[in-house]
Amino acid sequence: MPTLPLLASPATYNPHTIDMVTDPQARHYWIDVFVNHLPSLKRHAIISEGDTDDARRRVDAMAAQFSRMLDALRANADAFGHLSILRICELREQCLREHHIADPYHHIKSMENEACLKLLPGVLAELDAIRNPRKLLETLIVGVFAGNVFDLGAAGTLALYESGKMDYHDVRAKIKPRPWVVDDLGLLEGRWLDGLKLPGAVWKKAIVLVDNAGADVVLGMIPLCRELAKRGTRVFIAANTHPSLNDITFDALGPLLERIAAFDETVRDAVGDGRITPIASGNDAPLIDLRNVSEELASAARGADLLILEGMGRAIESNFDACFTCDTLKLAMIKEKHVAQTLHAEMYDVVCRFEMGR
Ligand code: MG
Repeated sequence: MPTLPLLASPATYNPHTIDMVTDPQARHYWIDVFVNHLPSLKRHAIISEGDTDDARRRVDAMAAQFSRMLDALRANADAFGHLSILRICELREQCLREHHIADPYHHIKSMENEACLKLLPGVLAELDAIRNPRKLLETLIVGVFAGNVFDLGAAGTLALYESGKMDYHDVRAKIKPRPWVVDDLGLLEGRWLDGLKLPGAVWKKAIVLVDNAGADVVLGMIPLCRELAKRGTRVFIAANTHPSLNDITFDALGPLLERIAAFDETVRDAVGDGRITPIASGNDAPLIDLRNVSEELASAARGADLLILEGMGRAIESNFDACFTCDTLKLAMIKEKHVAQTLHAEMYDVVCRFEMGR
């Protein structure tokens, strides 16, 4: 698979930023994360597979196989090649596939998309009523953070979601105030406001790698992409080709945009004239190795002058220090203690990193 042409230095690029090989403490921490997540994965997989005896048997066998792999990794970091979080995610997907469990979070992703589609007209009307461009940008970015809380892959947010107390507006109101732990909003604002003074769009073409289904993509990322498109940027929204946790997939993204286009004229026009285009990233994990993307993503990325990486896996765990040839925005909420530690941050801190292209 091709390398994303926007990487500034493909030869030194390393998506395995957390060293689990020489740091046994980190290794055990992350193996525990995967072990502790397994009961919830099993629960969702059984529902998605139709809650039959056969489904239960397959899910149990999948979980047993994955547990054995995690035990082997505890004993020997090299048990399955070079160890990384991404590698463990791949092993989990491999176990799911071997037991014919196609998409364990399918039911919950559809349910969340439906619920958020009902909230979207209100969110868009609220954004469209904001006249101050600074305020609009900050509201869009905070909206992305609030959406990113819908994450069934991280312990902190999983418990919150399963308690039934997750409300988008409530979550958005409680996003930590600025300055955020990584806060380049001022820099981003400079570019954003410059764009308003120029005759054309400040960015001609954006590649946006999105994270989760539900509130994340519907209420957070699509409104941001819609605003970029409104200002004349051609936006390619890249979603996972294959399912992984509750990440939105390419197959679900197209129909979702069509549903939105049915009630929102701005999205309808943008999808109609190619200012918003969904594409498949080639990815099958919650993190992304940008040396292995789809032909489609690699070709769309040629000539892009803005890259947006969203979510803890894509923006922090695999690409926080990666440099790109174009302007890059990394947006995420921190939902794992180890990730928080590495950034000298606290749980639920938010990251808005903006770097100019090199
Ligand atoms: Mg995700």
